[in-house]
Amino acid sequence: MFKIGCHLSISKGLAAMGRDALSVGANVFQFFCRNPRGRGQVKFGVQDIEDLKELLAANDIGPILIHSPFVINPASVEPQVLETTREVMQQDLEFAGIFPHAMYNFHPGNYLKRTPQEGIENIASTLNFLIKPGQSNWILLETMAGKGTELGRTFEELRAIIDLVEYSEHLGVCLDTCHVWDGGYDIVGDLDGVLREFDGVIGLDKLKAIHLNDSLNVLGKHKDRHAKIGEGNIGLEGLGNIINHPVLRDLPFYLETPNELPGYAQEIEVLRGLFKESL
Ligand code: FE
Ligand code: FE
Ligand code: ZN
Repeated sequence: MFKIGCHLSISKGLAAMGRDALSVGANVFQFFCRNPRGRGQVKFGVQDIEDLKELLAANDIGPILIHSPFVINPASVEPQVLETTREVMQQDLEFAGIFPHAMYNFHPGNYLKRTPQEGIENIASTLNFLIKPGQSNWILLETMAGKGTELGRTFEELRAIIDLVEYSEHLGVCLDTCHVWDGGYDIVGDLDGVLREFDGVIGLDKLKAIHLNDSLNVLGKHKDRHAKIGEGNIGLEGLGNIINHPVLRDLPFYLETPNELPGYAQEIEVLRGLFKESL
């Protein structure tokens, strides 16, 4: 079954977000479980949580993907930043734990004035602080565009992080099509080659989700500017090849394109039209 959905807002509550998913024809979705630019936690009502669980089960929706907020930097060693990062990620993981199949996605972080290697070690130590034995929700490192000192642009960097994490059984990767494209991986001209490289360096068993976005930039610009489906340089044909690729087609796809609900509904419809039920 084609799993396609988009990024949604919790501003009206959890169950209301589930209804938004249904209204756009999504059977998976992603959201921030707090204000994406702040550190404050949102308290959800017990009934709201139950209502969302029921809606997910009744409509066969999932896996849901929780995206970390932007205030964190797991690559930092600065005490204040480190404290906020750990507190926020721990709370988010606790929230994810309410939903058995929820996954948690985060940006690996920026090494700033340190070296990439130090950044990688800091990310791993943050993860070693957070991940206890028995961690059952998947935690996903997002592939990044490599803007500034952003880590996670290369598959090698992601592998290096995973290798330093003790309980890494449920540590995986979310591949963002805009980011890898901006990062220099030619998923339009050589999708097979890029996936072979991913498999060789990280292993396809670690690939758990796709952020499906078009890109405003040409290959390798390290910019990270998402475009609507078919309106960027990856293009409709390239994105169609991605959703139908034998090693990707069973993964959940989450749109993070610049859209409100009607735009998402339209893109989901277009992509459902492009998806081949059998190869
Ligand atoms: Fe992201
Ligand atoms: Fe993304
Ligand atoms: Zn992005």
